[in-house]
Amino acid sequence: MKSASTDTLAIDAHAHIFCWGENPQQGFLSAQTKKRWLTKLLIWLTGIGQEPGENLSAKMKHRLLRQLAASRLDYCILLAQDAVYTESGTRNDAATHFYVANDYVLQLAAENEKILPGCSINPHRRDALAELERCVAAGACLIKVHTAIQGVDPSLKKFEPFYARAAELGIPLTFHTGYEHACSVVSQSFADPARLSRALDQGGVVIAAHCGTCAVFDREDFYPSFVRMMGAYDNLYGETAVMATLIRWHALRRLRGEGDEFCRRIIHGSDYPLPPSRLPYLRRVGWFPEERRNPLDLDLRIKQSFEFSRNYESQVVDLLAPSVRVALQKQTPPGAVASQKSSG
Ligand SMILES: [Zn+2]
Repeated sequence: MKSASTDTLAIDAHAHIFCWGENPQQGFLSAQTKKRWLTKLLIWLTGIGQEPGENLSAKMKHRLLRQLAASRLDYCILLAQDAVYTESGTRNDAATHFYVANDYVLQLAAENEKILPGCSINPHRRDALAELERCVAAGACLIKVHTAIQGVDPSLKKFEPFYARAAELGIPLTFHTGYEHACSVVSQSFADPARLSRALDQGGVVIAAHCGTCAVFDREDFYPSFVRMMGAYDNLYGETAVMATLIRWHALRRLRGEGDEFCRRIIHGSDYPLPPSRLPYLRRVGWFPEERRNPLDLDLRIKQSFEFSRNYESQVVDLLAPSVRVALQKQTPPGAVASQKSSG
């Protein structure tokens, strides 16, 4: 049962921090990713270069903290991004194009009251279970698995112990679903929500990031598969990250068309720093909405206009790891809980 106080919270369940790689322990982008036109476009569009900071990573961090502080969001779940691992479970940095360390995200959450740490674990890694325990003890609120970028076919039987332990610990697993465009992938087919049965069968909460949606130009569409899985599993939730961008202009309308009962399990996520586009939503938000200066707020405003549910922007609270959920219900900053735990 949700306490009355958490009903009023606004939480973004899917935001990113990028590291350029000046300190690879914190995170890095591969040389190939740095050269991609989309990376360059994103840096230009978001104006990161103009932020204060000694290097690009510091500038990215500054922008996030500045916009989050000014935002009407109460919290954002900031996601780490684990590396690619070999079949035998060793880390493969050469094949990793986008990496953000769990410790970096945990550190940012300890420093900033509005950040909740979303750790990332590639279940291929040999120490996946130990890392899961460590992240939960350190205050992680959910665990992200990037199926396509991290090369994780979520349907593999060998991941069952990992899924079962996450269910026991009560920490939700967010899986990337739908085609990935921002970074090189191992396989787009891993992002089909139909592959989530094995995780769902363990009984824990599973969140399908992006609701399986693909861009208008993609060869496949995994959204119908997401809809089927929502019908088959009560413990599956959908999350709206990236769905307010131009290349998915019809995605939110289609999602709302599934009806009220279905939309009760839709939670809010932005995919920051990927900016929302207000062009397809002018009738909903107007030409010059007040929120246009802050991408976190504009994204929330666009999605709230669809009225998915009474508590669309707060309902992720009910799904988070128990210690974080309790802290939010008591209105204690969860960062304080995490730092008490790690020092204890
Ligand atoms: Zn994302």
